[in-house]
Amino acid sequence: MSNPVLNFCIRLMKWLPVVFITLIVLWSYYAYVVEMCVFAITSLPQKVVYLVLYHVFFLIFVWSYYQTIFAPVGKPAQEFYLSKADVDRLEHEDREDRQQQYLAQMAKDLPLVTRTIGGSIRYCEPCQLIKPDRCHHCSMCGTCVLKMDHHCPWVNNCVGYSNYKFFVLFLGYGLLYCIYVAGTSVEYFIKFWNKELDDTIGNGRFHILFLFFAAAMFSISLVSLFGYHLYLVFSNRTTLESFRTPMFRHGPDKDGFNLGSSNNLKEVFGEDRRLWFLPVFTSLGDGLKFPTRVQYDPSEPAPTDSPATESPDSPDSVGFGDGMSFPTRRTSEDSHQLLNDRQRWAEEGEGDVSDRETALTTVQPPGRSRMHVEAET
Ligand SMILES: [Zn+2]
Ligand SMILES: [Zn+2]
Repeated sequence: MSNPVLNFCIRLMKWLPVVFITLIVLWSYYAYVVEMCVFAITSLPQKVVYLVLYHVFFLIFVWSYYQTIFAPVGKPAQEFYLSKADVDRLEHEDREDRQQQYLAQMAKDLPLVTRTIGGSIRYCEPCQLIKPDRCHHCSMCGTCVLKMDHHCPWVNNCVGYSNYKFFVLFLGYGLLYCIYVAGTSVEYFIKFWNKELDDTIGNGRFHILFLFFAAAMFSISLVSLFGYHLYLVFSNRTTLESFRTPMFRHGPDKDGFNLGSSNNLKEVFGEDRRLWFLPVFTSLGDGLKFPTRVQYDPSEPAPTDSPATESPDSPDSVGFGDGMSFPTRRTSEDSHQLLNDRQRWAEEGEGDVSDRETALTTVQPPGRSRMHVEAET
């Protein structure tokens, strides 16, 4: 396991899908720019227009891809890690109910609203930390990842809070790039079959033929993937959550984080619309806590938990264990902003009036629960 040569080989192997995609993109650049635009297209204005537009799509696509690959994985803040003494205490306790009591005690000041399926505090044994809401352990990365969506071998990175916007843009711009290339090369693809392409371009004809095939093929696969992730963005779910309904303190709720499509979109892409389409980090919050939709049910007694308040000395940014920090917004700001939006919608008759409250609540120790150690793949 600790063989450094083997570890190095494994790390190298993980880059193969990225190298594969990069080689395809570089080849497509050559085929489009050199073989098609320079040699096959005879009209100068057409060459210029095609090349300018192509480079716009190419650059924004490559930028999004780069950002998705190299964004540092969002890791839980230090306050979620157990101290050495707490870990010892937990490990030396045989009774699961006592372990769970310890965890509940340790988590009492943390902003948690989700639980394991058994109703226990979510604990990660390998990382020795209490998992923040929507955080999962990635066995490929060997760490807990904030708002983990999935581990993507094509970017050799975990897709989560720190790069989900980049990933969605990467899919969107990848699709746009493929559609543009397929749309502008189809004319030369048809000419190839009709044997109308100038013989002087020689083997270039085959580059254009495969360019069209590859662009059309990738368009088809990307359209479904991009469509699926747009659906997830608008319903405020991660891929993991779409397969396994998150468990809240009040029970399972697949729409527990759903704040309405407009707010859901802002949670990933930010408030400033001018930055939505650029692969720069603009997601809201800190990745550690998320506004939730709490179902209003008058038959139930009012919740006894008090809304979370941040301590006066809470930092304006939260570290992720790797030197990266994201700007955070105060809990009350998030709640009020969203609440105001919802109230406005309700007044305009557009909103779901059952969405009465957006609340971030503190931990309630779950009396009879069993310790449950989760390890997502
Ligand atoms: Zn972990
Ligand atoms: Zn991962």
